[in-house]
Amino acid sequence: MIGAVDIGGTKIAVGIVDRDGQVLARAECPTDPQRGPADGLERITALLHGTAAQAGATLTGIGVGCTGPVYPLTGTIGDVPFLPGWEGLRLVDELAARFGVPAAMENDADAVALAEAQWGAGRGVSAFIYVTVSTGIGAGMVFDGKLYRGVDGAHPEIGHHVIDASGPLCTCGARGCWESLASGPALAEWFRATYPGALAPGPVDARQICAAAERGDPRARAAVDRLGTYTGLGLANLVTLFVPDVIALGGGVMQSRHLFWERVQDTIRATCRLVPHERVRLVPAALGSEAPLAGAASVWLHRYGAA
Ligand SMILES: [Zn+2]
Repeated sequence: MIGAVDIGGTKIAVGIVDRDGQVLARAECPTDPQRGPADGLERITALLHGTAAQAGATLTGIGVGCTGPVYPLTGTIGDVPFLPGWEGLRLVDELAARFGVPAAMENDADAVALAEAQWGAGRGVSAFIYVTVSTGIGAGMVFDGKLYRGVDGAHPEIGHHVIDASGPLCTCGARGCWESLASGPALAEWFRATYPGALAPGPVDARQICAAAERGDPRARAAVDRLGTYTGLGLANLVTLFVPDVIALGGGVMQSRHLFWERVQDTIRATCRLVPHERVRLVPAALGSEAPLAGAASVWLHRYGAA
């Protein structure tokens, strides 16, 4: 039984997951990062004890998926925008000491990529990429069963590869990152700037725009067409660079992909002429709402499961 911890900007989820990726017990609390890292650690510890008791489980390890940047090889939290003041927390060492079992941590997109590779959309394939599109764009790559890492274990920031150097300013400081063009907030921002006051008196969000596109509103259609082009360009770059067997797509924006999927496919066809792009399967992510906890568990399995 593996203790699984998923740390996001708004909530911390904790669960007990078995070696088949089944979540046997779960609990959560608001992240409340302003309460500080020591308080966060106490709450994670309490939730782990509680869910383990609920599942009648003895933990063999603890896996963590955390919104990044994190340092997977030292198990330390980095300068995470959603976790101000938590930088330097040696979460993996702390949990390992408290529970007397090995622990491991990865960026949350990498965690879900590992779970999808093990139990979901990437099962049995050798080159697998997971992409999640919601308030940001995250991705993880699993090649031949191993998570791809860069220097010092760094997580590649695929959501921040530049697609249009004259594009909007991104939260990371660059211009025209994939995330600044094809995330949910990017869709909403473009819509509000192009059609001020349209659809609702207040600021409209991605969900409202997709609903309006569904009804055939021409302004919302234009916005999701543009989203499809930029989603397609980012995916086309992944296809050209890696020609993976499978790209699995998760996140809230992708739940509306039928609105812009044709545009995505047209863009890939027009862009990826030198590689067998038609062989790359683009599929929905398979693990659903428990993916983050399954992901945290597979972080541990990936690191220690074979031992
Ligand atoms: Zn960026």
